[in-house]
Amino acid sequence: MIELKDVTAAYQSQTVLEHCCLTVPDKAHISVMGPSGSGKTTLLRLIAGTLRPLSGAVQVDAKKISYLFQEPRLLPWLSAEENVNLVLSDRKETLEEARHWLEVVGLADAMTKRPGALSGGMRQRVALARALAYGGDLLLLDEPMSALDEALSVQLLTLLNQYTQDKTVIFVTHSPGQAKQISETIYTIKNKTLELL
Ligand code: ADP
Ligand code: MG
Repeated sequence: MIELKDVTAAYQSQTVLEHCCLTVPDKAHISVMGPSGSGKTTLLRLIAGTLRPLSGAVQVDAKKISYLFQEPRLLPWLSAEENVNLVLSDRKETLEEARHWLEVVGLADAMTKRPGALSGGMRQRVALARALAYGGDLLLLDEPMSALDEALSVQLLTLLNQYTQDKTVIFVTHSPGQAKQISETIYTIKNKTLELL
């Protein structure tokens, strides 16, 4: 379960979120929408624990968090399969599993390519494969489909739903269609606070 109680977050003296409250039960899927710069990534950082709130309380009882960052953050000198294998135990034996997750996201033909030889959408899919491979019980997904076309997004979201049925998912997106496909509950950030859509 995730619980934010009256949370205010700021960078230097500039507040980004004010008096936010949020409860996410275990295994629930929620989406967070809102314009660029409204604080969506900041919210994920608070939940991941990489940013402390200025005031209020953040409680997260997840054992393991898979965080898909807004930028793919792949190591450029490693192939796609090696990038995914890094979050497994990075051994020869786990390479098969890394390949399995790349197949799931439709990258069977690109496994040995380095990030520099992949398109933006392909890099995003490697990052998604890595997040799934890591196997957290909480997935924080920051605009994971922003560089993909509509048809591929629909397809990947169907798979994502399938693989995350027993996990808690917080999905940040600009697309109302994607939000509806992944989650029963959709929040938006308005005037620095979370509102139910
Ligand atoms: P979103 O993900 O909705 O686009 P962010 O959470 O990334 O928004 O950012 C919210 C606001 O906080 C923006 O005005 C942004 O410029 C500012 N911000 C984000 N990260 C930092 C940082 N590390 N230092 C200072 N300001 C930041
Ligand atoms: Mg963001």
